[in-house]
This record gives sequence, structure tokens and C-alpha cells, in this order.
Amino acid sequence: MAATILDGKAFAAGMRASVAQQVAALKAAHGITPGLAVVLVGEDPASQVYVRSKGKQTVEAGMNSYEHRLDEATPQAELLALIGTLNDDPAVHGILVQLPLPDHIDEDLVISAIDPAKDVDGFHISNVGLLATGQKAMVPCTPLGCLMMLRAHHGSLSGLDAVVIGRSNIVGKPMFGLLLRDSCTVTVAHSRTRDLPAVVRRADIVVAAVGRPEMVTGDWIKPGATVIDVGINRIDAPERGEGKTRLVGDCHFESCATVAGAITPVPGGVGPMTIACLLANTLTACCRANGVAELQGLTA
Ligand code: NAP
Repeated sequence: MAATILDGKAFAAGMRASVAQQVAALKAAHGITPGLAVVLVGEDPASQVYVRSKGKQTVEAGMNSYEHRLDEATPQAELLALIGTLNDDPAVHGILVQLPLPDHIDEDLVISAIDPAKDVDGFHISNVGLLATGQKAMVPCTPLGCLMMLRAHHGSLSGLDAVVIGRSNIVGKPMFGLLLRDSCTVTVAHSRTRDLPAVVRRADIVVAAVGRPEMVTGDWIKPGATVIDVGINRIDAPERGEGKTRLVGDCHFESCATVAGAITPVPGGVGPMTIACLLANTLTACCRANGVAELQGLTA
């Protein structure tokens, strides 16, 4: 294996430590404690795990965590009213509504009800527009985490060819915006892209956000390229015993790692960075709300 492993777990731990340090400094100097409100509607098991983990890490960073768990059948108007209350609460600096929401609730409407200054997921149309026009925004956590690891590994990204596979609103499109802002030449590929392996083979940086287990193989990768694997896919693992499963990315790790210059593993790559960036965004939102200088390097 030739590639450097980009250790997201270690990187995220470092980031959480910087956030915790800054939170302590904010408390000492200004008596302000950043607060993150997470709203979960329904009983989706994966969402429950994410929300628990977000709450735990928020508290570990010295911030206040406010969890709102609502019944699956909660009417949309009730959820919107809660968001209104959180928007008006000065102790809440970040609001995250865990997606997906139940079918009777309009996700776009809910996201647009969040105060953009508290939109730590960066999904509000105002933040999407600010990012697209190169202005100060709240940046979606997963692509922000990818960008941080890329900057740490490469230094400057200027002039590099980047291919993002996937054009979702939560990963692919904001990743495009961030890489373009760092002066990469960016191609966004998707399910209709012709000859995807040839497109990917041009890239100095490959960001795979597809949701297809091990789709990208080593023969797609330009020697020395950096591979950021956003995918989280659970597959059967009969070799581990009956009924066992394991997590894999969108890239076939073993074959890609023999060709790439650097690669993120799954698990332990992009995943841990997402919550670290959520904490960073909450701190950033708190600093902005209180007119306090932001810690450099925590956002794009
Ligand atoms: P998504 O909304 O389902 O989007 C998938 C994208 O992949 C779409 O743009 C789709 O193209 C494209 N695609 C599908 N099949 C393709 C193919 N055969 N060739 C090329 N492109 C193809 O997914 P997402 O929400 O962006 O998530 C992507 C992956 O990242 C998932 O595995 C998800 O679990 C993971 N994820 C991880 C984190 C984290 O914290 N690490 C966070 C978010 C997501 P079309 O637009 O043409 O359909």
C-alpha cells in the first residue's frame, strides 16, 4: 500500500480540542457559552445514534446541548413553532434539525424556517447562496470536513484538478463550491456522467459521495491522487460470521490505496470530521452572534 492514510479520527480529535479550548476562552473572557439545539422527529434508529453522539460531543467541548425529541406524528406547525422559539432564544447559537423528517413534513420549509445565522448545517438557501457567491456563510459540515483534510494535506489547493462524484445538496454541490473557492478546477460527476472512470482518472483530488459500496476502484485513480471517500455503506460480511455486516466507502479501499497518494479510510475518515465541523460551526455562529473574533481555521 503506497498511500498516506488521512486519519479523520485523529484530525477530528484535534479539531474538537481546538474548539473546546476556544469555548473555554470565550467563557472566561466574555461569560458566553455556545449552545447547540438538535431537533429529532421520530424514532429512526440511525438518527437517534447521530443525535446522541452529537449531544455527547457538544457537552465534551464545553458547550450547552439542547435536545428536542418529538413524536413521529408531530404536526409540521408544531415543529415550525419550536424552530421559531429556538430562533428567538439567545442561549441557542446553532440549530440542527436531524434529517430525514417524516413524510408529512416539508423538509425545505423546515430548513427555510431556521435563522440562517443559526443554521449550523449550512442548508438554508441564504447560506447556499452566500457560499456560491464566495461570501461568509455557514458551511455544510461534511464538505467542510473534507476541505479541512485536503487543506491540511496539500497546503494550497490552487490549480489542482478535482472531481466530485455526486451532486447532492448536502455533499456534492457544497463540495464543488468550496473547492472552486480554493481555486481548484472542479468537475461534478453524477449518475448520467459518461465514462466516469476516464473523468475520475484526470483528477488530482477525488471526492466520492455516491452511496454505492466500493464503486470507485484503483484503476480509476491517477497515480498520486488524493481520494476523499465520503460514502458510508453497510454491506454483508459473512467472513465475520453469520448475519454480520461491515462499513465500506464508495471507494474500494485496497485497490485505490495502492495507486493514490493519500486516501481517507471508512470508517475513520470523513465521518468523524462531520461532527467536529458541527461543533466548529456552532462556535463560529456564537462568535458571530456576539461580535467576538472567530478562531481562524475552523471554517472555510
Ligand atoms: P445522495 O443524495 O443519494 O446523492 C448521491 C449522488 O451520487 C447523486 O448525485 C447521484 O447522481 C450520484 N450517483 C448515484 N449513482 C451514481 C453512479 N453510478 N455514478 C455516478 N454518480 C452516481 O447521497 P449523499 O447524501 O450525497 O450521500 C452520499 C454518500 O455519502 C452516502 O453513502 C452517505 O451515506 C454518505 N454521507 C456521509 C456523510 C459523513 O458524515 N461521512 C455525510 C453525508 C453523506 P444523480 O444526481 O444523477 O442521481
